Amino acid sequence: MEDAGGDSSGGGYGGMTVEACEGMIRKSLKLPMVKFLREKMEEAGCPVKERFFKATVCTDKVSGGYMTGKGVVVCSNHLTFQDEVNQVIIHELIHAYDDCRAANLNWTNCAHHACSEIRAAHLSGDCHFKRELLRGHTKLRGHEQECVKRRVQMSLANNPYCSGPSTAKNAMEAVWEICYNDTKPFDRAP
Ligand SMILES: [Zn+2]
Repeated sequence: MEDAGGDSSGGGYGGMTVEACEGMIRKSLKLPMVKFLREKMEEAGCPVKERFFKATVCTDKVSGGYMTGKGVVVCSNHLTFQDEVNQVIIHELIHAYDDCRAANLNWTNCAHHACSEIRAAHLSGDCHFKRELLRGHTKLRGHEQECVKRRVQMSLANNPYCSGPSTAKNAMEAVWEICYNDTKPFDRAP
């Protein structure tokens, strides 16, 4: 599932070479959270090899994406910092985890996609306070949920099955409670 990269971090559309991005991906794979997610996927029957992650030049305005059976792409031309690559890897791994654990997950179903985006934005730390400050969002109260909602809408905007004036928003609202509170494979939101 493609993810809007427009405000994915403070870095904007700086960009780097594919080779530099590959180096950053290798560093991301050493993060405890990435190791944990890969362990959980292996336990769930979906081992994730290093070649599952691919640095590439993206034509769409996205920072990365996940596709069933293909793996995770990281958009080298839209990312600049290690922290941004880490976020993409973790975010997309949560989509991959969802795909693995729910055999009936249907990405063309807007509600299914919305659920995974809620979880990915919430659990990956996309909306941690420090990152929100970098994006210029400084409101304190309720900022985390607002941020998750904003980013879910951006990601759903790339899904043609979520088009229509209120389709994405309605899908998100319908599954919000269940999916925001579903923190698997973590005991709680990291
Ligand atoms: Zn996503």
